[in-house]
Amino acid sequence: MPSADLHEDLRRGVRDLCKAFPDAYWRELDAARAYPDAFVRALTEAGYLAALIPEEYGGSGLGVTEASIILEEVNRSGGNAGACHAQMYTMGTLLRHGSDAQKRAFLPPIASGALRLQAFGVTEPTTGSDTTQLKTTATRKGDRYIIRGQKVWISRAEHSDLLLLVVRTTPIEQVQKRTEGLSILLIDLRDAVGKGLTIRPIRTMMNHATTEVFFDGVELPADALVGEEGSGFRQILDGMNAERILIAAECVGDGRWFVETAARYASERVVFGRPIGANQGVQFPIARAHAAVHAADLVRREAAGLFDRGAECGAEANMAKLLASEASWLAANACLDAHGGFGFAADFDVERKFRETRLYSIAPVSNNLILAYLGEHVLDMPRSY
Ligand SMILES: Cc1cc2nc3c(=O)[nH]c(=O)nc-3n(C[C@H](O)[C@H](O)[C@H](O)COP(=O)(O)OP(=O)(O)OC[C@H]3O[C@@H](n4cnc5c(N)ncnc54)[C@H](O)[C@@H]3O)c2cc1C
Repeated sequence: MPSADLHEDLRRGVRDLCKAFPDAYWRELDAARAYPDAFVRALTEAGYLAALIPEEYGGSGLGVTEASIILEEVNRSGGNAGACHAQMYTMGTLLRHGSDAQKRAFLPPIASGALRLQAFGVTEPTTGSDTTQLKTTATRKGDRYIIRGQKVWISRAEHSDLLLLVVRTTPIEQVQKRTEGLSILLIDLRDAVGKGLTIRPIRTMMNHATTEVFFDGVELPADALVGEEGSGFRQILDGMNAERILIAAECVGDGRWFVETAARYASERVVFGRPIGANQGVQFPIARAHAAVHAADLVRREAAGLFDRGAECGAEANMAKLLASEASWLAANACLDAHGGFGFAADFDVERKFRETRLYSIAPVSNNLILAYLGEHVLDMPRSY
C-alpha cells in the first residue's frame, strides 16, 4: 500500500478507536487521577502499541513515522498518549541491544500486551538532567546484581510489569569518561516489588501516573543486563531520537486540538453582537499558533523520515521536540485566551489539555538541554554546561 494511503488508514483507525473514549472519559480520569486502563487495553488490542516491534516478534514492523501518527491522533482526539507511549518505544533498547534470548522471551508478549514495558528509569532526585552523575548502583555478586539507590519521576511504574533501569556498574572515579560505566537492567517488577523495591506515587498537576522508586538491595539475576555492561549511556542515546520525534508528534496532536477547539469556539461565541473570532485580537493568536504547529509538524516529519531511512537525525529530532512543545504551548494559550473564563472550567477540557501539554517543554528532556545540544553539536559552539 502506498505510504500516504497507509498513513490515512492509520489516522482513521486511531480516530475511530478514540471516539469510544470521548472528552468526558479523560475528564473523569483527570479528576480522579486514575489510569486510563480501558483506553490502553483498547489501543494494545488493536495492535497500535506494537507498531515498532518487528513482525518476527509479533509486532507490525512499522517505522517511527507511522508510530508518531498513532500518538499524534490520540492527542488530537482530546486524549493523552502519555499514559502509554513508553510501551511503544522503551522496547527499542531491548530490540537493538538485547540478546537473542531476551528478544525471544520479551518482545512477543510485549507486542501482544501480555507484558507491559511501560516504565523507564533514568532520572534521580539529586542529579536531574546530569544523567552521567546518577547514583543508583548495581554491584555484581556472583551471578547476581544488587541494586541500591533511588529514582524519581518514573512514570507508569505502577502500571507496568517491567522496568528498564539505568544504573552505574563502575564507579565514576574508575572510568575515563563519565559516560562510561553505566548499564541497563531489565527488572521484573512483579518479582521485585516488596523485595527491596518500593514504588511511591507522586501527585502532579496533570493526570500522569508518575512515581518515585526506591531500591534497597534489590537482587537481580545477571541475565537482567541488557547489552554490554558499561555501555548503557550509549545504548539509551540510541533510543532518544525516536522518543523525541514521538513526543513532538504528541505535541503536534495537542497543538491541532487547541487550534481547532479555539477556532470553533471563536466562531460560535457571540459577544458585542458578533463572533469573538471576528476580532483580530482573538483570531490572530489562533492563526499564529496554527502556523507554528504546522512548521513544527514539518520538522517532525523530516526527522521521522530520516530516522526511518537509518540516517543521522539528532539535530532534526531535537528541533522537532523543541519546536513542537513550544508550538503546542502557544496554541494552548491562544485556546485558553479565546475561551475567556470558560477556558478555566473543567467541562471545556481546555484547562486539562493546557496542563497536560505543559509537561513537554520539561520532559523527557528540558528544552534548555536541547538548545545546549544544538549549540554544541550542530553549531560547534563551546559546551555550555
Ligand atoms: C511528569 C513527569 C514524568 C516524567 N517521566 C519520567 C520517566 O518516566 N523516566 C525518567 O527517567 N524521567 C522522567 N521524568 C523526568 C524528566 O525527564 C526530568 O524532569 C527532566 O529531564 C528534567 O530534569 P529535572 O527535573 O531533574 O530538572 P533539573 O535537571 O534539575 O533542571 C531544572 C531546570 O534547570 C534547567 N537546567 C539544568 N541544567 C541546565 C543547564 N546546564 N543549562 C541550562 N538550563 C539548565 C533545566 O532546563 C530545568 O528547566 C519525568 C518528569 C516529569 C515531570
